[in-house]
Amino acid sequence: MSWNTFATVAETKKALDAKQVSAVELAKHYLSRVSSINPALNAFITIDPEKTLSEALAQDNRRAKGEAAPLLGVPIAHKDIYLIDGWRTTCGSKMLENFVAPYSSTVVKNMADAGMVTLGKLNMDEFAMGSSNETSYFGTVKNPWDLSRVPGGSSGGSAASVAAGLTPASTGTDTGGSIRQPAMFCNLTGLKPTYGVCSRYGIIAFASSLDQAGPFAQTAEDCALLLSAMAGFDPHDATSLDRPKEDYSRDLSKPLKGLRIGLPKEFFGDGVAPGIAKAVDEALDVYRKLGATTVEVSLPNVKYSVPAYYVVAPAEASSNLSRFDGARFGHRAKDYTDIVDMYKRSRAEGFGAEVKRRILIGTYVLSHGYYDAYYLQAGKLRRLIAEDFKKAYEVCDVVMGPTAPEGAFQFGAKSDDPVKMYLNDIFTICANLTGQPAMSHPCGVDKDTGQFVGMHIIGNYLDEARMLNVAHQYQLATEWHKKHPAL
Ligand code: GLN
Repeated sequence: MSWNTFATVAETKKALDAKQVSAVELAKHYLSRVSSINPALNAFITIDPEKTLSEALAQDNRRAKGEAAPLLGVPIAHKDIYLIDGWRTTCGSKMLENFVAPYSSTVVKNMADAGMVTLGKLNMDEFAMGSSNETSYFGTVKNPWDLSRVPGGSSGGSAASVAAGLTPASTGTDTGGSIRQPAMFCNLTGLKPTYGVCSRYGIIAFASSLDQAGPFAQTAEDCALLLSAMAGFDPHDATSLDRPKEDYSRDLSKPLKGLRIGLPKEFFGDGVAPGIAKAVDEALDVYRKLGATTVEVSLPNVKYSVPAYYVVAPAEASSNLSRFDGARFGHRAKDYTDIVDMYKRSRAEGFGAEVKRRILIGTYVLSHGYYDAYYLQAGKLRRLIAEDFKKAYEVCDVVMGPTAPEGAFQFGAKSDDPVKMYLNDIFTICANLTGQPAMSHPCGVDKDTGQFVGMHIIGNYLDEARMLNVAHQYQLATEWHKKHPAL
């Protein structure tokens, strides 16, 4: 069988439905591509060909029995933060190096119900803390476009695997930008839905009020298909939105005439690399040609996003990660004197430096006497940022700007300066703090560095279908998303 390894999800689905290819054939194709190319990229932490092939066979049998499902037989790889029954799930940490999940996350289950076949588990920053995949216990992931550069993070394996044609699509999670920034660095389309659209049940928690699951793919059309499979109310997650299932592809073909794009002046300031600003301007011209109008808006409180995030995220992480104590699951130290010593040693050995830094900050900001000064204030800032957006949506339908202030950087360029690393997410974090949906799509190259540029689209709550429509119309008019690395 010859198969175009860069076929989109939509094309793959079509070929499967027309019986030009089977789920088993596709699984074999991608598994063999993983075994030849992954050693250079390190995008996968775990593969289990036996499990993958038996899932593929089960999906082919569903089809043979006349069952229909939206993505019957389409392969998918999952970030190693999603629990999958019987699969090792490490979260990129030594702490969970040998942890085998006893049940599957709702998102994974939903995708399997839709017919998708698991190819394996993808590398990531430890506990999703990072912007470059350099904090993974399992080693860095290489950017398939330039092996000396980072793929972005924390969902670096999710981005690198799709960009390299090792899978047609992947899942990621986004707490502060971990879907959108790696999507930009690897020239992909990635979406973080409205908080509560995808269930967090069975996804290892980092910062519970910010975490959301979302898809990576080559196109917005694919992201719409994937999100339709992933999303849905889940009684197992108290923050899951109880609303009917949506077809996120429904508005893809709408023309953009009359679309009002808000351009916050705060997203076009000095911090943005000139080559990125230029590519974004050119992409906005394409949008204007498609019938959209642009209007300047102001988000005066977004400048507080990064400081607010680095209070809220570590605070919630310090609480969530207290469960990893060596007693019930995860790494346990070999030598210890008593139970307190066992906790201490297990955590000291099991967690890496960045995770420890977050636990220390989080414990500090939540401690008696400091809670009011930090966590409570950060909560107030979240409200102010949300109010800014509310005002903006009085004059625009979506907000746009660059996804990140600079493109894919070299390994080591920021790893010894946490604040430099944190500033990668200066544009993405606001959407996590407010819970709004946001996405990134390819929109050009920074001519000064040769690195890819992402257009960041932030939408009003539950406006995913419109955002996907916007990005899809752009992709019908442009070719950036069709570029693939030579591997
Ligand atoms: N880079 C941010 C951090 O390190 C965001 C990570 C994420 O979205 N998971 O916390």
